[in-house]
Amino acid sequence: MQEFLWGTATASYQVEGGIQNNDWWEWEKAGRIKTGDSALVACDHYNRYKDDFKLIKFLENNAYRFSIEWSRIEPERGKFDEKAIEHYVEMLEELKNLGVEPILTLHHFTIPLWFKEMGGFLNEESPKIFADYIKHVMPYFKDYVNYWITINEPMILSSLGYFLGMWPPGEHSARNTFKVSKNLLLSHMEANKIIKENRSGAQVSIAHHILIFEPDKLWNPLDGAIARFNNFILNYSFLDVLTTGKIPYPFSRGEFYSDLKDSIDFIGLNYYTRVFVKFSPKGLFREAERKMPKNDFNQYIYPEGIERVLVNLANRYGLRIMITENGIADREDKWRSEYILKTAESMKNAVKKGADIFGYMFWSLMDNFEWNEGYSMKFGLFEVNFETQERKPRKSAFTYRDIAKKFKNGLKE
Ligand code: BGC
Repeated sequence: MQEFLWGTATASYQVEGGIQNNDWWEWEKAGRIKTGDSALVACDHYNRYKDDFKLIKFLENNAYRFSIEWSRIEPERGKFDEKAIEHYVEMLEELKNLGVEPILTLHHFTIPLWFKEMGGFLNEESPKIFADYIKHVMPYFKDYVNYWITINEPMILSSLGYFLGMWPPGEHSARNTFKVSKNLLLSHMEANKIIKENRSGAQVSIAHHILIFEPDKLWNPLDGAIARFNNFILNYSFLDVLTTGKIPYPFSRGEFYSDLKDSIDFIGLNYYTRVFVKFSPKGLFREAERKMPKNDFNQYIYPEGIERVLVNLANRYGLRIMITENGIADREDKWRSEYILKTAESMKNAVKKGADIFGYMFWSLMDNFEWNEGYSMKFGLFEVNFETQERKPRKSAFTYRDIAKKFKNGLKE
């Protein structure tokens, strides 16, 4: 029996340190990080990965999801840094020696500056440019990796960067949001083709964020309508595209791409929380408040929600599911253990209802650079002292280890 994959997830810019050639570095220099923190050192994971892999073993995990940094690998267009590639090969080699299955993310939010200057994913040529990068790296990584995540949270990237202006490049344009979304989907399509050409049988997906939208007032049809609309646009439209091949309005004019159809082999689910939405004539909707516990990131603590999400995904797509991220910002480690336990319970319920779950990656292995929030949000099973780089297991690390041991063979009873 194939073991269930229990692991943690990280992303290059959030943990590596030493990255100065991407759009987030520029964003940071422009003073956009709320805390004024810098990712220049982060967890120094680039140099300390061997020690950090011991933490994975401490957790008795058999998987690790991490990302490669495009700006290191291709610092100038068409010029590849073989040393940077070699670094990631060494990481993969080390994981192999430890018996840890890598889940490799090819793109996790950051882009090289040269690509940003060309318009990033707004550029019509971006799927091809992304494909050139993947073509170059595949021969090095292909033998090590079964599970590939082409793009992390394309919908979050396009909406925070191009609609809400909260992330680079800080735009407020619905038109560009749809364009970027489409180009990200086509970039996935290209990457999937290249991966399969290099390694038939590879398992490919995106890591897709799902946020539960609850209508504020159940009796109000407008609240219900807006919750359903958000649910479709933000939660399901991308996965529909990746399974049907058809990019609907408003992302395109309904174009169909045969290579997009069934271009995911499983669903990569990132799940964190829910929001309550209320119809509003200005800006369509606003969030409604509830007197319910929230985490440090001002998000409702709702681990049970994952059951609904998993069952919906299973019914809608009939694909296997890997939870590629799930976690909680919790400085004092007050909620995390309970969050993990309730999540495991909810995953078990979802399995009973027919969801085929084969892996779970907790976000995150250790505290790291939480984008605009800098180091103020603590997502780690291991606490990181950013002065000394010391890692210390939180109580919840033991909880997660127990779960990984108890359900080594999966969540079926
Ligand atoms: C992202 C991570 C981020 C996490 C916690 C996810 O949306 O993929 O990069 O750190 O959420 O906010």
